[in-house]
Amino acid sequence: MKIRVYQLAKELGVPSKQLVEELRKLGVDVTSHQSTIDDETADLLRELFKVEPVEEKKVLPLRPPVVTVMGHVDHGKTTLLDAIRKTRVAEKEFGGITQSIGASVVSYKGQKIVFVDTPGHEAFTEMRARGAMVTDIVVLVVAADEGVMPQTIEALNHAKAAGVPIIVAMNKMDRPGANPDRVMNQLSNMGLLPESWGGDTIYVPVSAIKGQGIEDLLEAILLVAELRELRADPSGPLKAFVIESKLDKGKGPLATVIVREGTLRVGDIVVVGSTYGKVRAMFDDAGRQVKEAGPSMPVEIMGLQDVPEAGTLVERVPDMDTAEAVAEEHRDAVRQAHQKVRKEFTLEELLSATGEEKPVLNIILKADTAGSLEAVQNAVRKIQTDEVELMIVHAGVGAITDGDVILAEASKAIIIGFNVRPVGKTHKLIEEKGIKVLTYRIIYDLVDDVANFLKGMLKPRQEEVVLGHAEVRRTFRVPRVGVVAGCYVTDGKVIRSGKVRVLRNGVIVAETGIASLKRFKDDVREVAQGYECGIGLENFQDIKEGDIFEVFTMQEVAG
Ligand code: GDP
Repeated sequence: MKIRVYQLAKELGVPSKQLVEELRKLGVDVTSHQSTIDDETADLLRELFKVEPVEEKKVLPLRPPVVTVMGHVDHGKTTLLDAIRKTRVAEKEFGGITQSIGASVVSYKGQKIVFVDTPGHEAFTEMRARGAMVTDIVVLVVAADEGVMPQTIEALNHAKAAGVPIIVAMNKMDRPGANPDRVMNQLSNMGLLPESWGGDTIYVPVSAIKGQGIEDLLEAILLVAELRELRADPSGPLKAFVIESKLDKGKGPLATVIVREGTLRVGDIVVVGSTYGKVRAMFDDAGRQVKEAGPSMPVEIMGLQDVPEAGTLVERVPDMDTAEAVAEEHRDAVRQAHQKVRKEFTLEELLSATGEEKPVLNIILKADTAGSLEAVQNAVRKIQTDEVELMIVHAGVGAITDGDVILAEASKAIIIGFNVRPVGKTHKLIEEKGIKVLTYRIIYDLVDDVANFLKGMLKPRQEEVVLGHAEVRRTFRVPRVGVVAGCYVTDGKVIRSGKVRVLRNGVIVAETGIASLKRFKDDVREVAQGYECGIGLENFQDIKEGDIFEVFTMQEVAG
């Protein structure tokens, strides 16, 4: 751990200049208050300036809860947020939300609640992967007439993986088909047992359109917030996160930030990732200029040099020179991170992430059908070892997606695909994030490998090397030969001796050899990226336009 001179100066309550001088006297080569010093030197100075570590903790003031609304598309997230905002307008003298800053503050019974507009659970987890946890409570919206849908489960698992308490809003209760019992039943099976059935999850029936049940929901949020005792020090060091950003023609770069600790003020000089600036003006969720924002409050800030990414930490620094230097360091760090492809997480890294007594290996399971998913889940649950506990953080049907990869990164999980593969640009993301992805077609192999992986000795019998992908643009029926696919090689290459996995929407529909590979009329051994070719497959005729041929070879691995 390193600390900057000015940070230590602040801690010790002495001017930075004095510290710099003191350090030089000690023979430590520092150039300015931006320089970093190591722990030992810092402790030496602490000793010198005699600050006792503060023993008794002062009771910090409560802060409003920050709530994120998630759920399946069309179940009413937007309508619900609108209905909630209207409640606030009724309580205020001046209504009218003039602009959206990506979050809004609602007052209910004299208490504040902050709602974040989430673009989706992927973005939610992406923020968490970057260390920016701003959400205290998740409201999971489920349409009571439709019940639990795939994205409901995904949202639920993302929220669970983040360890955030969940309140279920059963929406569309005005609909004739509304069946709240079914929703409670479905979600009970996923670990959200209702209070009324002896569990601890609050379910609130609402109709966003009719504005019914909104107050009950707000009441539930305040109750859960009270139990969590959300506290923060408004006078402590600033910690805030960007949740949204944009470039405005007139105002320049704008960033909405939520303060976690401390207070952000107009005039503050801040570093936001690789950009920085002096906060020239701040606006609240109603577009009004404000001078400061305390814990949990969302504000849009103006004055940054550049548009920062969502999830970036906002830090306060003493002056513009420091800001520039720190931002430059961040830029370097990002550059370096981009240069080296991240190594795959090792078993030790995966297991050490948990902090539980018994190390936990988090697993994300994806399979081609609900039936096979269940079979794989059961098989994985049966794998037992004394040393490691297996935890399925998400299980779903369909291809391995960016969302799965982001969740794997945030939860330090491995991804297991059964009869499914990653599609398109997800391959690149997997590489970037260093996620371990294991895919199988036979449950027995899967169970074997996972068990071996846990023993820290995963040695595939054969190692597979993916060579490239070709997209089927047209299909032809050739007499006596069968169906031939007119393909375009989208990346890598296709080789005549390779094997092919036929992917349809990320699901493996066949795995076979190549029977023929042609450019125009000629048989060829290899076709490179950017070229068209004709491919015939061994024993597989059911080729469809839009199928992806994943071409690979197997390499024997000794051991
Ligand atoms: P989102 O995709 O989750 O943000 O869903 P929206 O808020 O856009 O709502 C999807 C559709 O459901 C819209 O046509 C809404 O008018 C409708 N809707 C939302 N809430 C209710 C409700 O409580 N009752 C009824 N009947 N319809 C609703």
